[in-house]
Amino acid sequence: MAILLGSIADDYTGASDLANTLTKNGLRTVQTVGIPDPSLALPDVDAVVVSLKIRSVPAPDAVAAATSAERWLRRRGASHVLYKICSTFDSTDTGNIGPVTEALSDAAGGGIVLVTPAFPETGRTVYLGHLFVGSQPLNESPLKDHPLSPMHDANLVRVLTRQSQGAVGLIDLAAIAAGPDAVRARLDALRTTGITLAIADAIFERDLETLGEIALETPVSTGASGLGLGLARALVRSGRISAGGAVTTDAMRPVGGLSAIVAGSCSKATLRQLDVAERSMPVLRLDPERLLAGPDEIAAAIAWAGDRIAAGPVVVAASAAPETVSRLQSLYGREASGHAIETATSIIAAELVERGVKRLVVAGGETSGAAVDRLAIPAFLIGPEIAPGVPVLRTVGNAQGDMLLVLKSGNFGGEDFFAAALAMMN
Ligand code: ADP
Repeated sequence: MAILLGSIADDYTGASDLANTLTKNGLRTVQTVGIPDPSLALPDVDAVVVSLKIRSVPAPDAVAAATSAERWLRRRGASHVLYKICSTFDSTDTGNIGPVTEALSDAAGGGIVLVTPAFPETGRTVYLGHLFVGSQPLNESPLKDHPLSPMHDANLVRVLTRQSQGAVGLIDLAAIAAGPDAVRARLDALRTTGITLAIADAIFERDLETLGEIALETPVSTGASGLGLGLARALVRSGRISAGGAVTTDAMRPVGGLSAIVAGSCSKATLRQLDVAERSMPVLRLDPERLLAGPDEIAAAIAWAGDRIAAGPVVVAASAAPETVSRLQSLYGREASGHAIETATSIIAAELVERGVKRLVVAGGETSGAAVDRLAIPAFLIGPEIAPGVPVLRTVGNAQGDMLLVLKSGNFGGEDFFAAALAMMN
């Protein structure tokens, strides 16, 4: 079946957030890891989010990857493609939001593109073209000190103009509040002045619902998960979605096998979740220095887990308190120690899967990315949420057969998160 909505996300965590938002708003959604192989067999879904890592790469590379993802999505039937960006408009004067948006628009035959990073649920609103992060204008928010793309201007019409070839205009809140016809009229007026990119105000979800309806009348839009919400609700309202209430049940069909948890997050929430898990299941605390010294600690962890896992879920954790983390970082460097531990936890996860684990929880954003890469999982179908922002994922096209995964970053989830995740995947 043809997909209704395609999306290209400029980073992986943004892709997950969008895929989860689309699912919660009624679309059966698959998230791919990178541009999928042409042969990837999709389940019956409404939306596909292609996850790329193009937020801060040189603009020509971002354009090449995004247009290749666009071709894949169009071949699968997507009539609208959302370029998913960060809700804080992370970009520099050389891109990549402008160049990628214009390339996607050109590929679809041109026309005017709606652009809005608004996502009211997370405090991102746009008024008269100015982006607010909570109560602060973008240029006064912590984003002014972002290491890769410091944002010194809250006026998105100006920001987008600096990184685009075409002219940028504004659809203001007054037009949006007046409803879809007023927005159409405003877009027509902008078109006649030669404008090709339109920053759209949005403060409430209802504004994004209006924008979603209008965006669906065009081939391309650019926005954060808020615009995804608007597009999903507009599609559901249009009657083109057949799933009804059963959006996430497909994802939850049992997969059998064993279950395990691998943790590399050192966040306060994860450390507490590990302490709580220790009361009900075996937990192995890895020795980070030994992990960095060679393969013995990994082999020992796999042997430890192998002895126990048939009897029930086990937890293997590199996670440590801040003092221990800082000591390791001062000895080996922050990047090197983080990367080495991610490699170790990903090897442990892959070995556990080799030994029959089909239900896997990974704690830590980077830790999850490394594990998913090593497991070479091509895509996920998004299931129901265990905690806000953390859904169960069902693998799609996985060489080892269907698995259920939970990828939890940092501070997400309550203190009994691990038991709750395992219970849900049963
Ligand atoms: P979070 O989502 O909580 O930020 P991440 O997985 O993104 O978690 O980041 C945690 C980082 O800390 C990873 O690079 C991981 O390899 C590293 N790490 C895990 N355990 C330790 C440790 N004991 N000492 C130092 N670094 C660690």
